[in-house]
Amino acid sequence: MSIIKKFLRNFNTWIFLFIVFIFLIPKIREYDKVYIPISQSKFEDLLINNDLSRVTLFTNKNKVEAVSKYSEVKYDSKTGSPSKKLSVIYTFKVPSSAIFNANFRSIEDQKDRSERIGYVVSEKYDIFTIVDNWGSFVFMILLLWFFIRRIGGGKNSQIFSIGNSKATLFDSKNKVSVLFKDVAGLKEAKEEISEVVDFLKDKEKFISFGAKIPKGILLVGSPGTGKTLLAKAVAGEAGVPFFYLSGSDFVEMFVGIGASRVRDLFQKAKEKAPCIIFIDEIDAIGRARGRGSIHGGNDERENTLNSLLVEMDGFSTDSGVIILAATNRPDVLDQALLRPGRFDRQIAIDKPDVLDREEIFEVCIKNLKKISDKVDIKRLAEQTPGFSGADIANICNEAALITARHNSEKIEMKHFNDAIDRIIGGLEKKNKVISLKEKEIVAYHESGHAVSSWFLENSDPLVKVTIVPRGIAALGYAQYLPKEQFIYQEDQMLDKICVCLGGRASEQIIFGKISTGALSDLEEATRIAYNIVSTYGMNSEVGHVSFSRMEKEESFVKPFSEKTSYLIDQEVKKIIDKCYTKVLDLLKSKKKEIEKVAEELLKREVLNKIEFEEIIKSVNLPKEDLSDSNPEVNLE
Ligand code: ADP
Repeated sequence: MSIIKKFLRNFNTWIFLFIVFIFLIPKIREYDKVYIPISQSKFEDLLINNDLSRVTLFTNKNKVEAVSKYSEVKYDSKTGSPSKKLSVIYTFKVPSSAIFNANFRSIEDQKDRSERIGYVVSEKYDIFTIVDNWGSFVFMILLLWFFIRRIGGGKNSQIFSIGNSKATLFDSKNKVSVLFKDVAGLKEAKEEISEVVDFLKDKEKFISFGAKIPKGILLVGSPGTGKTLLAKAVAGEAGVPFFYLSGSDFVEMFVGIGASRVRDLFQKAKEKAPCIIFIDEIDAIGRARGRGSIHGGNDERENTLNSLLVEMDGFSTDSGVIILAATNRPDVLDQALLRPGRFDRQIAIDKPDVLDREEIFEVCIKNLKKISDKVDIKRLAEQTPGFSGADIANICNEAALITARHNSEKIEMKHFNDAIDRIIGGLEKKNKVISLKEKEIVAYHESGHAVSSWFLENSDPLVKVTIVPRGIAALGYAQYLPKEQFIYQEDQMLDKICVCLGGRASEQIIFGKISTGALSDLEEATRIAYNIVSTYGMNSEVGHVSFSRMEKEESFVKPFSEKTSYLIDQEVKKIIDKCYTKVLDLLKSKKKEIEKVAEELLKREVLNKIEFEEIIKSVNLPKEDLSDSNPEVNLE
C-alpha cells in the first residue's frame, strides 16, 4: 500500500500517467466504432444510394470519414447472441479538398433537395498530429525541467528549494539510538548537558519556577573528541527530533541563500519542537564579523551569521528548541554569538585522559566480535596518550581489519598494537626500496632518539622504536609515553627539544655528517622553542610576555616590534643551540649504547621497551659485574 502511495506522490508518476492517458484517448474514442477503408467510387455509390448519414472532410489530412446509416452488430462469441452495436465509418483519401468538393456537389445536385446531406469540414487531431504540432514545445519544456533538476543536484536541493536548509532530520522515523551510556568518559560534560535532557523531557517543571534554560550550548573541543556523539546522545536520551547540519551547509555561492537556509531551519525546528538543532563546525559561519574580510568578500557569511543571531533572539526559551553547536576554535567566534541569550554556555570537551580512554576502548571494543581475553584495555589506554575518541574508535576498527587480513581466529593484543602503529605511522611499506646505507642512517638516528630519551631526566619513557618504513612516519620512529600532565616546566620542555635533536646528534657522532632525515624533529624542536620564548614567557631576555593568541587573530601585522621579533629569533636559536650541545655531549658519552641499539634495530627492526632496556643494561653489564662484589649496590 505504501509503495503505491509513494508511487503516486512522485511527480514523475503523474507525468507518466498523463502520457499514457494521451495515448489512450484515440483508443477510447474508437471503442464503439468500426472503421472500414473504401475507395472513392464506393463512397460515391453509397452517397447516391442514400446510405450515409454524415460526411466529414478533414482538410488537414485530405481524408473523408462517412458515417453509415446502418450499424454493425457484434455477437458474443460464447452465447451467439448480439452483444454490441458498432457504428460503421467509411474512410478514404481524397487528392485535394477542391476535387472532393466538386465531385460531392455534382452528386448532390443530381439528388432531391430532401435527400441531400452536405458535408462538414473539419481538421483531424490524432496523437501524431499533436506530437507534430506540440512535440518540440513539450520536448523543450521537459529538457528545461531536466536541467533545472540537474543544476539543483538531486532530490533535496532542486533549484527552487536551494534556500531550504540542508539539515538531516532524525525523528520518530529514523530515531537517534545513541544514549549517554554510549558516550564514554566526558563525565562533567554529560552532567552539565543532562540538564538540557531534563528540560526537553519535562519543560513545564522548569517553566513553573520561572527558570530559563539556555537556548544555545557550545561544545568546544578538538576534532574527534565526541561532540557530535554527545549532542546525539542528548537527543537520544530526551527522545526528541534532532536536526544535524554543519556550518558549511549554510554556505552557497549565491547571495542570501545562507540567511534563507537559517530561517528555513528555524521554521522547521519550531514545527518539530521540542527538538535539538546541532550545528557542527559553527566557525564556518560564526567567525567574528569584519575580520579577515577583504573588500566585503565575506558579506554573504556575515549575512548568514546575522540571520542566525536574529533567529536565536526571535524564539523564546520555552519554545523547546535547543541549539547545540560544536567548534574547535571558540576564539574566532563572533562575540555577539557568545553573549547571554545565544550560546551563553560553553562546555569544554578535552582530549580523553587515561581513564576516559580506557572507557572509550571498552565502549568501542563492545562493538567488535571475537576479542581475545588477553587484550589488556588498560595498557591500550596507557599506550595512546593524546589520542581522541575518534582515534580510538579507528584503532578498534583497524585492529579488526588487521585480524581479518591475517586470517587470525581472534583479535589479539598484537593486532591492536599494529593498529596503533598504523595510526601513528601510516601503512607499513614493506616494499619500499631503501638502500642499506639509508637503513643504517635511520637506525642510528632512531637509536639517538631512544638513547637520549632514556638518559635525560625529564623526558618521557620510551614505548618502542622502529625502523619499519611507513606512510606517514616515513622511515622509522620512536614512540614515547607522555605523562598525563597539564603543566610543563622549562627544563621539561628543554629536554623535549634535546630528544628531538637526539637523532641528528647521533648521526653527527657516528657518521661525522648530518642528513635530511631530521626534518620533522627540527620542526617540532623549533615549535617548542618558539613556545618557550613567545607564548609562555619563559625567556629572561624577551620577558614574561605572550604573543601567541594575538598572532592568531589573522592580521598581517605582528603584535610585536621588529626589535622584539629579532630578539625572539635570537633567543630561539640560543635555546636550540644549547640543547643540541647538551644532547651531543650526552650521546658522545653513550656512543656504545647508540651502536648496540642501532645494531639490534638493524637486526630486529622493532624494539619494545623491555628489549630496549635489556640492550642498554647489557652494554653496562661489565660495570654491574664489577659491582657484584659490592653488597650495597646489589641491594639497590
Ligand atoms: P567530533 O564531533 O568531536 O569531531 P564525533 O562525535 O564525531 O567527534 O566522534 C567521532 C567518533 O569517535 C564517534 O562516532 C565515536 O565512534 C568516537 N568517539 C569519540 N568520542 C567518544 C566517546 N567519548 N565515547 C565513545 N566514542 C567516542
